[in-house]
Amino acid sequence: MNQAVSIPNKEDIESKNFPHFNDLSKLEHEQLIFCSRPDAGLKAIIAIHDTTLGPALGGTRMWNYASESEAVRDVLRLSRGMTYKAAISGLNLGGGKAVIIGDSRTDKSEALFRAFGRYIDGLGGRYITAEDVGMTEQDMEWIFSETKYVTGIPKALGGSGNPSPVTAYGVYMGMKAAAKKAYGSDSLEGLRIGIQGAGSVASNLASYLQKEGAVLFVSDIFEEKANRVSKNTGATVVEPNDIYTLDLHIFSPCALGGVVNDDTVGQLQCDIIAGGANNILDDEQRHGKLLKEQGIYYAPDYVINAGGIINISSELEGYNEEMALNKTSRIYDTTIKIFEYAEKHDIPTYRASNILAEQRIESVAKLGTVYSSKSHFSGRLGELYMKDRT
Ligand code: NAD
Repeated sequence: MNQAVSIPNKEDIESKNFPHFNDLSKLEHEQLIFCSRPDAGLKAIIAIHDTTLGPALGGTRMWNYASESEAVRDVLRLSRGMTYKAAISGLNLGGGKAVIIGDSRTDKSEALFRAFGRYIDGLGGRYITAEDVGMTEQDMEWIFSETKYVTGIPKALGGSGNPSPVTAYGVYMGMKAAAKKAYGSDSLEGLRIGIQGAGSVASNLASYLQKEGAVLFVSDIFEEKANRVSKNTGATVVEPNDIYTLDLHIFSPCALGGVVNDDTVGQLQCDIIAGGANNILDDEQRHGKLLKEQGIYYAPDYVINAGGIINISSELEGYNEEMALNKTSRIYDTTIKIFEYAEKHDIPTYRASNILAEQRIESVAKLGTVYSSKSHFSGRLGELYMKDRT
């Protein structure tokens, strides 16, 4: 007699018995890797979202997560964002990201990062790491001693160094494109621009804006950082909460994500939002729609802050700063294209950008049906880099 075989169906997979597979399938991830090496203090998670366009590139974040599920949620969300960022920027890269669970001030060691480097190496290039929050060039050097699949290493070692200046240049380009759309001119001279945060991206951005004659305001939770930007650029320092209610042409969030939220969205007195922070909209759908209804031009964050990934990805082909800046300047045209698409289809700009990124991924994926004797990044991305580093 035939015995009934129980084949799990979609409902089973999505049930609470399979929380990680459920998360993976919801956001369409390919792979989630847990890396454990207790003697080195390593607890890390690598998420590979999509490798249609190429190897998954994205930074490692070291953060003291309160729970494992919080870390998983973060790495899944961040890696998905990298797929869209690479796709809209015209890069031949997929999306990935890693998190190391720990306190970046007290828990770092050579053994931890070298162990982590070995896990990355074992993925054979499916995932390439870089710096993110809580990581330094020194940490990348330790990872580099175990694997070639790492970018953002110091310039002295043939890398591209700190990506923040290039990120800032891209944000500046995206801001000019938004101004062109809103005012018919991309000059920022005389415009009132409020920068939230006075860190690496913000301070470099402020220099570009000051040179162009913008009227600057800056806030930071650490007053001395805001004072430093003020001293260098003449920006007026404002209290952190006051940045939302200032009468501005452009609000530029360059600190943390989620700053356009239910509390702040109604207070904003600006025509444009264009900043370097990731995940500016607390809830993409809800707040993206509200900004559109309020007539605020929102330059999607992952589009205009892509200078950093453009910079580190050019490291894969032998780093050339001029080429990286040149590619980053294309953020201007991409931003204009997104505004035009959004206008034509009467949709929020975040949605327009997601659609255009997905269209690129789908159209390139279809090319996979044509036989080619070489890997899709052969001779261009990857090979040179691998040759140099073996
Ligand atoms: P950073 O740590 O140098 O600067 C962040 C600054 O924001 C700090 O000075 C911090 O004190 C300040 N801050 C935090 N909360 C604040 C608040 N509520 N109000 C005002 N200031 C506040 O970081 P960064 O490298 O300049 O990155 C800034 C943002 O840009 C982050 O969201 C990051 O994820 C994003 N980003 C950075 C890069 C890059 O190349 N560095 C690339 C892409 C995206």
